[in-house]
Amino acid sequence: MKVLESKFANEFLNMAERCFSMGWHERNGGNMSYRIRPEEVAEVRGDFTDKNPWVEIGAAIPSMAGEFFMVTGSGKFFQNTKSQPEDATAIVEVDGAGENYRIVWGLVNGGRPTSELPSHLLNHAVKAAATGGKNRVIYHCHPVNVIALSYVLPLEDAVWSRELWDTMTECPIIFPAGVGVIEWMVPGGREIGVASSEKMKTYDVIIWAHHGMFVSGEDFDMAFGLAHTVDKAADILVKIISMGGRKRSISSDDFRRLAKDFGVTLNEDFLK
Ligand SMILES: [Zn+2]
Repeated sequence: MKVLESKFANEFLNMAERCFSMGWHERNGGNMSYRIRPEEVAEVRGDFTDKNPWVEIGAAIPSMAGEFFMVTGSGKFFQNTKSQPEDATAIVEVDGAGENYRIVWGLVNGGRPTSELPSHLLNHAVKAAATGGKNRVIYHCHPVNVIALSYVLPLEDAVWSRELWDTMTECPIIFPAGVGVIEWMVPGGREIGVASSEKMKTYDVIIWAHHGMFVSGEDFDMAFGLAHTVDKAADILVKIISMGGRKRSISSDDFRRLAKDFGVTLNEDFLK
């Protein structure tokens, strides 16, 4: 089977299109990766090349050794991903040590995988360990309201988690662990990848202050749905603040009752 005939590649490209339509991906903003299942790799392996050189990842990630990822390309536009997939995306293989990668498909006009590749791979490793291998998507975008809030709210996990939960009743059900927040850092390097992966041990959503959002999901729908929910909550919170602030709130006990009825475990640190 050709890569572009596969279900996973089509889901990847549809997600990119959906995310662009949300206004989260100006120019070449944002990036995405999918850890391909072994059976999916087997289906498309005949479409791969082994002619490309191995390149250092910049971090050793032994638990991702031998894995294949579909990723967006550095400098490529989400806008063009679906119409020009072989130019804008790639499949990369990680070597047996988890230290190097090579392009086995895509980026036919040259280029590199997303500059956030070290962040993606480090976070795939953390999420795979934390979810027993379930989580396969890592996604980064630039949603307006989240970025705006990062100039106003204190950059603390507790403040963001409680404020976002308290915008819309379903938020604590959709991200019961809360959200992690990282102060401004230079993007694209190992440092922001390591800081994010520390937070990813606890959360599925990381706010990169003055930059955007970094999420993990089991599949494309779950990753998109999570980013969409956080963006909507941030939109509501901007409106609440703009209208002069809260006049009432959902109480800690209300959150606990909600969690009980919906069978989720809320992060108690944020219910004080
Ligand atoms: Zn970014």
